[in-house]
Amino acid sequence: MYIVMLGAPGTGKGTIGKILSQDMNLKHLSTGDIFREQISNQTELGKKAEGYMKQGLLVPDDVTMGMIKARLSEDDVADGAILDGFARTAVQAKALSEFLTEKRPNQSQIAIELNVPDDVIVKRLAGRLTCSNKSCGAIYNLETRPPKEKGICDICGSKLVKRDDDNEETVRKRLVVYHQNSQELLDFYKGNNTLYSVCPKNLDEAVNNIKEHLKGSN
Ligand code: AMP
Repeated sequence: MYIVMLGAPGTGKGTIGKILSQDMNLKHLSTGDIFREQISNQTELGKKAEGYMKQGLLVPDDVTMGMIKARLSEDDVADGAILDGFARTAVQAKALSEFLTEKRPNQSQIAIELNVPDDVIVKRLAGRLTCSNKSCGAIYNLETRPPKEKGICDICGSKLVKRDDDNEETVRKRLVVYHQNSQELLDFYKGNNTLYSVCPKNLDEAVNNIKEHLKGSN
């Protein structure tokens, strides 16, 4: 099963995606994480993505599609994956659907939308901290999910860092970009009857709600 997590930045796609990934034994693939890793390794792909990311803009579809198709062709995701931050445009969604239908015809495709008001998101992202250890990547929030020890990851003990693009100005820009693309994107998944929307009030409620839905989709 391939699960496409949809929603504005800060709606919990990463946190919820990682919980589902552990429960369902599916790889969690975040296009944002892949780009950040490419940037820190200063690869050609990273160089292409960096300027867009700093400004809160989307990396062009052709660059993003090439990257995700290569990743989804690997064996460790042959039985499915949780896609976090991909697709973000209708063009990407359509290309992904066609690619998976051809390459993994026996696997189902489901889209989950997390719907959270913008003012809640802005507040949430201002307090977001991420584990600097890339193989952990745990996500915290100073208000709602603080680490036990200040600045230190509960899980692996690495330093917690604030992402470059988690400042209010860039967050607002990312929200504008999300809303510019979201209607067409959601319409695509509504159109093929694979969209399930939740308005998560808290993490546990969202996870349980989604799991119930996924049980019925197997
Ligand atoms: P995220 O970690 O999902 O919030 O993504 C951080 C940034 O990476 C976004 O603001 C974009 O610049 C870029 N990015 C991630 N996923 C995509 C995508 N599917 N299409 C285009 N750009 C993306």
